[in-house]
Amino acid sequence: MELSSRLHHVTPSLTLAIDSKAKALRAQGINVCSFAAGEPDFDTPEHIKAAAAAALEKNFTRYTAVAGILELREAIAKKFLADNKIEYQAEEIIVSNGAKQSCFNAIMATVGEGDEVIIPAPYWTSYPEMVRLAGAQPVIVPTTAENHWKMTARDFENAMSPRTKMIIINSPSNPTGAIYTQEELRALAEVAADEEILILSDEIYEKLCYEEASHVSIASVTPEAHDLTITINGFSKTYAMTGWRLGYLGAPQKIVKAIESLQSHSSSNACSFAQYGAVAALEGSQQCVLDMRDEFNIRREYMFSRLQKIDRISVLKPSGAFYMLADITSFGMSSTNFSDRLISKSNVAVVPGVAFGHDKTIRLSYAVGMDVIKEGLDRLEDFCKTL
Ligand code: PMP
Ligand code: GLU
Repeated sequence: MELSSRLHHVTPSLTLAIDSKAKALRAQGINVCSFAAGEPDFDTPEHIKAAAAAALEKNFTRYTAVAGILELREAIAKKFLADNKIEYQAEEIIVSNGAKQSCFNAIMATVGEGDEVIIPAPYWTSYPEMVRLAGAQPVIVPTTAENHWKMTARDFENAMSPRTKMIIINSPSNPTGAIYTQEELRALAEVAADEEILILSDEIYEKLCYEEASHVSIASVTPEAHDLTITINGFSKTYAMTGWRLGYLGAPQKIVKAIESLQSHSSSNACSFAQYGAVAALEGSQQCVLDMRDEFNIRREYMFSRLQKIDRISVLKPSGAFYMLADITSFGMSSTNFSDRLISKSNVAVVPGVAFGHDKTIRLSYAVGMDVIKEGLDRLEDFCKTL
C-alpha cells in the first residue's frame, strides 16, 4: 500500500520518540535519568485543576465555539495586552490543542507549494516538518554559539528569495535558550516588513527568562510587525499543563478566520472544561509561575556549572526556556551515535542535536528533579571519560 506522498519527507518527532523510549525503559524497572522531555515535572497548580473540575461537574462537556470559549479568548486578549503589549481583539484569537497545533494551523493556513519559510537553526524539531507537510520548503539558516545562537537581520536578508513567505522566530528558544532583544527583533521586523514576509513568533517559553533577560514580543515592536505576525503561546510550559493540550494564537483577522476554518474540519475545539482551567491559569495569581521559574533557575545554574566542568564538552549559558545545548564536537561522533551510546551504556537519555538541525550538539532538559539532574550528570561525566 502506498501512503500519501505528503509524508515522504517527514520524520516523526525525535523529542517525543526519545521521551517515550525513556519512559518505556523506566516502566521495565530500569533506572533511567532522562533529560529528554521538554516537560515540566511539576504538577498543574491546584486552582487551575479546581476550575476545570468545577466546569466538568457543571456538565460543561459539550462542543464549544471552534475558536474557544469567549471568556478564555477575552482573558487571552487581556494577557496579550498586559504582558506583551499587543492589541488583539477576542476575534483575533484562536484556542487550539496545544501550541503545536497552533503552529501547525498557522503554517498550513498561510504557506503552500512554492513558498519558502526561513528557520534559524538550531530550531525546534517540528518546524521544518510542519513546513514540509504544508508543501513548502524550509530554508535553514545556521546560527553559532559565538553569535549566541541568534539570527541577525543580515542573515535573514541573505536567506531571502522572492519565494520567502514566512520567518519563524522562537524566543526564548528551544533548544538553545537564546532570547532576542527588542533591538534585534526590531531589525528582523524591519526586514520582514520591507518584503511583507509573515512572522511566526512562537513564545511558549515567554515566562522562563533568567537573570537580566526579558521577553519581548515581535508583534509589539512596530505597527507593521503587528500586522505580519502570528503570535503563538500556550499553557504547557508556563503552568505545567502539557497533558491538557491547550495553546493559542493571536493574528490579524484574515489569518484567524482561515485557521478557524481549517480547525473546524480537523479537531474542532480544544477540550471544553479544560478551557475553564486555562481561564483560571490566566486570571489567578501568577505566583506559581514565578515559583516554578525560580526552581528552573536553580537547576539551570547547577546543570551549567556541572557541564562546564566536563572535559571536552562546551556549553553556553542559556538565558531562557529549560534546555541546555551542549557541544560534543571534540568527541568526533554524530549526535545520534553519542546519544545512543549514552543511553545504552549509562541509561541517560538526551536528545541528539540532529533533531534540531545541529549534529554537533546534544540537548539536555532541566525540567526534571534535582536528584535526576545530579545522578544523570554524574553518569554523563563518567561516560565521557570512557570515550
Ligand atoms: N513550541 C515549542 C518551541 C516547544 O518546545 C513546544 C513543546 N512541546 C511547543 C511549541 C508545543 O507545546 P504544546 O503543544 O504542548 O503547547
Ligand atoms: N517541545 C518539547 C520538546 O522539545 C516536547 C516534545 C515535543 O512536543 O516535541 O521536548
